[in-house]
Amino acid sequence: MGYKQYIKEGTCIWCQRNSPRVTFRNEPHIIPESLGGTEIGFDICDDCNRYFGSANKNEPNTNLIFKEMFGAIRAFSCTPTPDTYKNLSSVYFEYRYKTNTIKIKSRFSISVITRQFKRSLYEVFLQKYHYQTGKGLDCKMDNVRNYARWNKGNLRVYYVYNKVILTSTGKDALFLPMSDGAISDIDDYGFFPFWFMGHYFLLEIIPSKAQLADFLYLQKNANQLIIPATGEERLMELTDIRQVDFFMERFGKKHIDVNEKCRY
Ligand SMILES: [Zn+2]
Repeated sequence: MGYKQYIKEGTCIWCQRNSPRVTFRNEPHIIPESLGGTEIGFDICDDCNRYFGSANKNEPNTNLIFKEMFGAIRAFSCTPTPDTYKNLSSVYFEYRYKTNTIKIKSRFSISVITRQFKRSLYEVFLQKYHYQTGKGLDCKMDNVRNYARWNKGNLRVYYVYNKVILTSTGKDALFLPMSDGAISDIDDYGFFPFWFMGHYFLLEIIPSKAQLADFLYLQKNANQLIIPATGEERLMELTDIRQVDFFMERFGKKHIDVNEKCRY
């Protein structure tokens, strides 16, 4: 008779519909399962869960983008070997060991991939936030819902580029840390510090707050997060996915060949 439902409030944090209009039977992984995420969230309906995992006509799916980009970081965190490519079954790029080149082979434009990657950060964020606080349905999260789930509007993401990466390769790397301090950043500054696999992103969560506090908040984080090394390290708004250096070019001589033709 009964089946397990992944609910707590019983309302989906994304579409805000309730059972029985929607079901909650499929395990909603906070970090995509394809990357190895094991933390299971709740109040994410099957429709929304499916949405994040399916490609739509004009856009590659956010779960896949997240998995591919962070999968590349994981693969290239070690010195590439002839086997590296085997760990990267990729829809978006291909790696050739002999020439040490990476080619983005996606038929999607860089701007589409960038937007989808940013949305995937918000998808993971809200699922974890709700898991941690139970407050994912709060109206202050409406901008996150609109952006990640309904592809409406735009939220700013900042990226901290360091020449040094402090990465943990253990199991912990597959959890999005969410300390009390990080949660209070949302209320105090409108931003959330998203730290994953040794990479720092600052996510604008509440634009009305973030616009008032951004200079202060970004300055504070720049002071804390930038590790002085060569002078190239900086904090910048993420407007092009290549800023993130998923292929860890900073540590090698890999060459990225990008086809920038925009199909849409
Ligand atoms: Zn839903």
